[in-house]
Amino acid sequence: MRSETRLIIVFLALITVINYGKAQTNAAKAGQNDVISSREKVEMLFPGGKTKALILSFDDGMVADNRLVRLMNEYGLIGTFHLNSNKLGTKDYLTKEEVKNIYKGHEVSGHTANHPNLPSLSKIDVIYEVVEDRKELERLTDYPVRGMSYPFGNTNDFVIEAISGLGIEYARTVGDTYNFSIPADFLKWQPTIHLFGKTNYIPNDTANDRRELGQFYQLTTDFLKANSLALFYVWGHSWEYEGPGNKWAEVEKFFKMVSKNPDIFYTTQIGLVDYINAFKNLKFSVDKSMVTNLSSINVFIKMKGKAFNIQAGSTNHIF
Ligand SMILES: [Zn+2]
Repeated sequence: MRSETRLIIVFLALITVINYGKAQTNAAKAGQNDVISSREKVEMLFPGGKTKALILSFDDGMVADNRLVRLMNEYGLIGTFHLNSNKLGTKDYLTKEEVKNIYKGHEVSGHTANHPNLPSLSKIDVIYEVVEDRKELERLTDYPVRGMSYPFGNTNDFVIEAISGLGIEYARTVGDTYNFSIPADFLKWQPTIHLFGKTNYIPNDTANDRRELGQFYQLTTDFLKANSLALFYVWGHSWEYEGPGNKWAEVEKFFKMVSKNPDIFYTTQIGLVDYINAFKNLKFSVDKSMVTNLSSINVFIKMKGKAFNIQAGSTNHIF
């Protein structure tokens, strides 16, 4: 080969290398906004990409639940009802025959068979109380009962150890947080606030009522205005609203405030547990550009400021 020819080949090769390099840089620039890294934070959104969720949860299954559930149905609200199966059919409680019909469209959940103070029982008695309740409620509702609330809200490490492995996926205390956080441990689930817990307990104590109602409605307003992920968990007992004062009217006022709001995900407690578990079980590629949703629930996430619907049972290229 002549030396000029060799020189031309080297020159052409050099230009090719330079251009290739430029092309690579341009490609990187063009795709800069869509590049994702394994360090990117994946945030959970509620179904439909919503940022608010509401749980309404009531204990004991007494006859006043008739009125409460009717009111909830009227406002299109769903609830989780924790029942003591051995108390059903006794004075002031619903009958076993009524359970399936009254709570249709809501969740029936456990509250132990006899409403004992669990931390004072032996391990086998704790197990009996929880399993007997599950078993009987499952017979009455015809579906697996997968959660509970602790009688009197009382629990400790001994109780939690005793109920693990019994098919209980969440258990609620009565320790109000007055915030909208999602619990890290479903077996130590603390609600946001007791629905008019102390209101009207003291006859003619209007200062107390004003304070209690003020705090409750302030939290409700804060929830409705919240712009980051917020779970409002309100719990109580229907029988509390039968007492003196105007509690049923207050309950209705509250239901009206939170009903039919397109920004709210209305859910049972187990519904939220299932959703969070589906989110936690998403499978990401190392670079987080792909994700597989193995569950039967569509899961909504936020990454780099964008919302994505990861459809049930699918693999998606999200970046
Ligand atoms: Zn109770």
